[in-house]
Amino acid sequence: MRVPGLNTSDLPARSAGRARRTLFLGFLAACAALTILAVGVLALDPGRGGPAGPDRGLRWTLIALNALFGLSVLLIAQLVLQTVARRRREAVLEGTLRRQSRLLQEISAMSTMVELLQTCHSQAEANIVIHGALPKLLPGVGGALYVSRRDDVVLDLQVGWGSMPAAQSFSSEDCWALRRGQPHLYEPASAATVCRHVGQSEESCLCVPLVSQGDTLAVLHLRRAGGESISEDVQRLASTLAEQLSLAVGSLRLQETLRSGSERDPLTDLYNRRHLEISLQRELARALRHGFPVSLLMLDVDHFKTFNDTNGHEAGDEVLRNVAHVLKRHTRVEDVACRYGGEEFLVVLPACPVDDAYAKAEAIREAIAQLHVFSRGIALPRVTASLGIACYPEDGERMEDLIAEADAALYRAKSSGRNCIAASNAPGDIVLFEPRSREKAESQAEPRPGAKMTA
Ligand code: GH3
Ligand code: MG
Ligand code: MG
Repeated sequence: MRVPGLNTSDLPARSAGRARRTLFLGFLAACAALTILAVGVLALDPGRGGPAGPDRGLRWTLIALNALFGLSVLLIAQLVLQTVARRRREAVLEGTLRRQSRLLQEISAMSTMVELLQTCHSQAEANIVIHGALPKLLPGVGGALYVSRRDDVVLDLQVGWGSMPAAQSFSSEDCWALRRGQPHLYEPASAATVCRHVGQSEESCLCVPLVSQGDTLAVLHLRRAGGESISEDVQRLASTLAEQLSLAVGSLRLQETLRSGSERDPLTDLYNRRHLEISLQRELARALRHGFPVSLLMLDVDHFKTFNDTNGHEAGDEVLRNVAHVLKRHTRVEDVACRYGGEEFLVVLPACPVDDAYAKAEAIREAIAQLHVFSRGIALPRVTASLGIACYPEDGERMEDLIAEADAALYRAKSSGRNCIAASNAPGDIVLFEPRSREKAESQAEPRPGAKMTA
């Protein structure tokens, strides 16, 4: 394979060689012509030069011809040696050019991959780019990329290529490269030990850890089937790839941390108010277009100030975390549960009419009343919560109106004795739902405000 511009330096040498060869062939032709001429002269005029003449003349001619012939043989030998040396040099040059050309292709493919990775917003997007680029960069080599979870212990398969069987996830303890913090090469014939996540293997394997700012983020795992070993070129390329990929994976992780920090509440890991408002606007727009209802649940923990004063702020935080967990358990993927502020929570239920919203609210209320919360190993008193429901489109079409309606319903639930649910869209006056297991809840919840329901 030739790369334009890279092989021009040997042109003068080639033309000099060609000139020498022409000179040589001319010289040989002259020798041959001379020999033929001498033999011809002697053959045509054998009596030339007297009795001693022809012998002496012939001898000198033969000596001269032999000398010329010997010289020719020497020159031919030199020519052959030069040709062999030139061929060898050319072969080396060809090899170098091939490697340089391959290197150029690798650099170009890698820089395209890096450029694409820089514009990715998620690991899932990056996986698509990696799946497109790595099999081309490493032809004949199967592979997989495993990325560590936040706990740094378990790594999950993100992308795999080639026919290799890939483990879905494994512990960092199962990979020698991760344990030693450096690439680990396993050849079936070598004394090296194969990683546990590979299992028994007759294939050559290479694991390269991806490290960013001292943290091991991932591992690039490569395999070569058919008893072939992983060449030094592939090992070198794998190390370069690992460096590039570690930058990309590190940056995606940072993006994700920043994103979740800007939309999640750090105490409960629920969405924050800002995210909820964006989601609610979007849901209302969709509901308007498709004509389905949207329900809002506003939840407030009862007598939480007293709870904090009695049990301490840390215990209060633990209760909020548990309430958030109840909300996560009782909502679908398309629902949005957020910490609205302090001990108030708001849940958006798309495509959910008021009856279903009430059933959900009741399940949440009951689950909170039955929570067993511990702080520093000590069981805390039970807590209860009150909920208000508002529903699009009956209670309003604008986000602000709906939130105000849910808040008003919550206020009515509070003033009706707490640990209960109120909906704002009742015909006539407010609706208060009688908790289905009120007696059970009352007997279990301690301390309990004197909840009283009005119908
Ligand atoms: P009500 O039943 O009427 O809702 O009474 P309440 O005491 O719950 O209501 P109030 O608004 O008087 O008190 C809310 C309390 O919530 C005050 C505050 O100490 C507590 N709180 C707000 N945010 C947090 C938090 O992040 N952690 C803890 N532990 N407490 C919080
Ligand atoms: Mg409260
Ligand atoms: Mg409150």
